[in-house]
Amino acid sequence: ERRDLERLRSKPTRTRDGVDIALYANAESREDVARAHALGAAGVGLYRTEFLFLQDRETPDEEEQFIAYRDAVLAMGGRPVTFRTLDLGADKADRAGLALANEDNPALGVRGVRLSLLYDAVFDTQLRAIVRASAYGPVRVLVPMVSCREEVLIVRRRLRRAVAAVRGRGVSVQVPPLGAMIEVPAAAIGVHGLADAVDFLSIGTNDLVQYLLAVDRNNDALGDLYSPLHPGVLRLVAHVLRAGNEHGVPVAVCGEMAGDARLAPLLLALGLKEFSLHPAGLLELRRAIRDCDLSQLQARAPRLLQARDRRGIERWLATA
Ligand code: PEP
Ligand code: MG
Repeated sequence: ERRDLERLRSKPTRTRDGVDIALYANAESREDVARAHALGAAGVGLYRTEFLFLQDRETPDEEEQFIAYRDAVLAMGGRPVTFRTLDLGADKADRAGLALANEDNPALGVRGVRLSLLYDAVFDTQLRAIVRASAYGPVRVLVPMVSCREEVLIVRRRLRRAVAAVRGRGVSVQVPPLGAMIEVPAAAIGVHGLADAVDFLSIGTNDLVQYLLAVDRNNDALGDLYSPLHPGVLRLVAHVLRAGNEHGVPVAVCGEMAGDARLAPLLLALGLKEFSLHPAGLLELRRAIRDCDLSQLQARAPRLLQARDRRGIERWLATA
C-alpha cells in the first residue's frame, strides 16, 4: 500500500479521461518545501509566511525574510512559489505583538491584509523581501482575508512600489503575479469585482466555511456543524470557479478541503483544476484523482448542486 503510493511520486496527476490536474503544496517550514519538491508538486500554492513571525520575539527583518523566501524558491527548482503575505490575527498571534490583543471579535477583526495595511513598514519590508526572492525563480504573491476590491488595488500599488525599490538597488525583477484569497463570503459572492484586479485566486475553505456557516473553526463544541459538506458552501465554491473561468483567472482551493482525497470527486465535479494541500496528503490525492473520470463527474455536477443537505452530498460522493 505504502509502496503503491510511493510509485506515484513520478506519475502525472491525470484523470482517467486524460485531464491534467495541478497539485500544489501548502508549506509552513523549510521541510515542507523540500517535501513538496520531492513529491512532484506543481509548485508551492500556499507559503504561510507568518511562520517566520511566530518563532521569535522580534519581527524578522528584510534580510532574514529574503533568505527564507529565496531558499524556498531555489528548493522548488523553477516551479512557482506562492508567498502569502502576513496572515496574523488574534487566532495567530505573533510573539513580537503585531497582532492586536483584546479584540471583541478577533475573527472579524484586524486579520490578514487588514493587519498588513495597518503596519506600512512591516508590509513594505515583506513585499521587498518577496520581490528580491523573485530574482531566483518564479514567485507569486497571495493576499489573505481580502474582503473588497480596494484592498487588492492598494496591495498592487504597494507591490509595484516594492519592485521599483528593489530595481533601484540594481536588481532586475518583474512585478510578480498577484492573487487574492477567497475566504470572506462577500469576496466570494462578489468575486467578479475581484477577478479583473488579480492574476489568480485561491479559495481558503477553512475560513470561508467558518464565516459562511458562522461556525468557529476552532470550537470543538460545535462538532459536525463545521463542515464543507453544506449545500451553501458547494454552491459558493462553484460560483467562484465559474467566475474565474469566465474571467480567465485560475482558481485554486488551498484549505483543508482540498487535502481530503475523499472529496476530490466533488471538487473536480465543480470544475476545480488546481489543488493546494499539505505535502503529507499529496500522493493520496494524486491516486484519488487518477481514479476519477472527469467528464462523468461533470455530468453529475447538477445533481451535486441540487443536494439539499449533507446526507445528500454524502450520497452523491458514495456513488461517485
Ligand atoms: C484557509 O482559510 O482556508 C487557509 C488556507 O488559510 P489558513 O488556514 O492559514 O487561515
Ligand atoms: Mg485563512
